[in-house]
Amino acid sequence: MKIIKRENVIYTFSPKHKPAEVASPGEYILFETEDAFGGQVKGGETPPDKLDWSRVDGVTGPLYIEGADPGDTLVVDILDIRLQEKGAIAVIPGYGSLSHLNYMPKVKVVKIDRSFVYFNDIRIPIRPMIGTIGVAPKEGEIPTGNPGRHGGNMDVSELGVGTRLYLPVLTKGALLALGDLHAVQADGELCVSAIESPGEVLVKINLIKNKMPNWPILETTESFQIIVAGRDLDEAVKKAAEESIRAIMRAKGISFEDAYMLGSLVVELKINQVVDPLLGARAKVPKGLVSISDFLH
Ligand code: CA
Repeated sequence: MKIIKRENVIYTFSPKHKPAEVASPGEYILFETEDAFGGQVKGGETPPDKLDWSRVDGVTGPLYIEGADPGDTLVVDILDIRLQEKGAIAVIPGYGSLSHLNYMPKVKVVKIDRSFVYFNDIRIPIRPMIGTIGVAPKEGEIPTGNPGRHGGNMDVSELGVGTRLYLPVLTKGALLALGDLHAVQADGELCVSAIESPGEVLVKINLIKNKMPNWPILETTESFQIIVAGRDLDEAVKKAAEESIRAIMRAKGISFEDAYMLGSLVVELKINQVVDPLLGARAKVPKGLVSISDFLH
């Protein structure tokens, strides 16, 4: 198994980054990650309005995948997520879903164990997930705080252990990177952060050659989820809904009209987050209805 140390931190997804490691399809890779605050929040004494923003949202990588060419699909199995025993969350004036209100900056450092996060006297079951995971774009660079077709800061609450993520390969070697682990985050990520923790992620990588999805696809035990970003939720929802209907049309060989009706019955729309530079929604299509090939072209 190869290990990518958390010192290999990048703040953009870009084809220009030198690979931190090289792997072939079928290999297991362990990514060590810093938290989304870049380790700057140590306790209640850390004023969140004094954060060095150039050290926020870093991810570990990139991993060059042998044989990955533009037009392929990178398949990432999330096998394990291990968190440290402390996590941090912050509210920052001007950020989050309630940025129009007046409130004070505040941070909270919380204990994390194998089962729970301890928030004041409230125990919250943990649901470890990867906030940011993506590949390099074809050209240019995308800040790691942004979600998009390449993946990135998607903040999908269900992107945890036992799931499989399909990402479009946009540049040679794909250049996978990930970080921004959350011990628990609800859909929406209302206050702009979740329980942010450094940790380790074990993945297995594979490739599907000569086909790729338009947007990242998350496979869980029950569904395929199209993860979309837009300038606002309306745009994200429209794109996610359309992708789901197109996949149902391909899977069942039915008309748009019939697939549209069917979608109204079985496709669930969910909000990923409303707090990043682009907002995120996902469409969940039951597995019995479609297979991954219906999303690839
Ligand atoms: Ca995030």
